[in-house]
Amino acid sequence: MLFRSLAAAAAVLAVSSPVAAQDVDLRAQVAAFIQPTNAARTDVVVSQLRAAGFDPVVETFVGGETDAPMEGRNVVITIGDGPREILLTAHYDAVVLRDGSMSQGVVDNAASVVGVIEAAKILRTRNLNHRVRIILFDQEELGLIGARKWVEAHGLTNVAVVVNSDVAAYGDTMMYGLNNGAQSTGVVRAVREVCAERAMNCVGFPVYPPSDDRVFSGAGLGRQSAPGPVVPTISLGFQDHVGAHQMWLAFNGGQNTGLAEGFVPQVFQLIHSHGDTMEHVDPATLKLSGETYAAVVERLDRQLSQ
Ligand SMILES: [Zn+2]
Repeated sequence: MLFRSLAAAAAVLAVSSPVAAQDVDLRAQVAAFIQPTNAARTDVVVSQLRAAGFDPVVETFVGGETDAPMEGRNVVITIGDGPREILLTAHYDAVVLRDGSMSQGVVDNAASVVGVIEAAKILRTRNLNHRVRIILFDQEELGLIGARKWVEAHGLTNVAVVVNSDVAAYGDTMMYGLNNGAQSTGVVRAVREVCAERAMNCVGFPVYPPSDDRVFSGAGLGRQSAPGPVVPTISLGFQDHVGAHQMWLAFNGGQNTGLAEGFVPQVFQLIHSHGDTMEHVDPATLKLSGETYAAVVERLDRQLSQ
């Protein structure tokens, strides 16, 4: 388990090195999301945004199931101004497990939330031509409900592009989905350029698991292909290099993946289980995801302004 020993080493280094002090902080920010309810997680999002100097707006909606409505809360901040918007999104809610308890929801998806907040802190120092709207969605795990409700309430007239993050807690390899429609070609190119510029490992997935991105791209969930809004959209995540390729094979390898029979990529053993714990959260990835997401948004801002 190379990753575990690396994480342990990073934790030790973090205690002794002032450079890593902020990393400890980022990890603590993720750990703060371990709460008994999603409502308590809302409070964590709001307080972390306030602590970072932002002024978050909580947008409530009626979500849940048709026969069991449940109030949900999307948390939103905006940076800069401009006639068109770039959305940078991640869900903060955790899934309720089969035994009725809540997942700790750190890999899926508090780590992305902390990465997105880091990106927001970078982006507010930049001169942007677009308004950047950071949306931290609720009720993703119930069927992308927070994102759907946001679109219902606001429409997408002024939305130029959507960048979503789901599962970004460990590893140095950024994964991106290629299944958000032909209108997303430009954002895919921008992501690839950032990968090249930053000399990062990146892996594009022709088939990539769904997250809130599907609400914006009209790509649906596979089984339900009701036409929705069509906006250039990309879904990003992080994983270790080997795990990213194993996951690529599992989703895209067809009949003969070469993976052992019954093989389940590690990340799918962790998420939506009691195994989604802080042991799998690497502060280096949180820092990397924040910097990379900011770079992607900046590049999109420039390209879409030309
Ligand atoms: Zn998720």
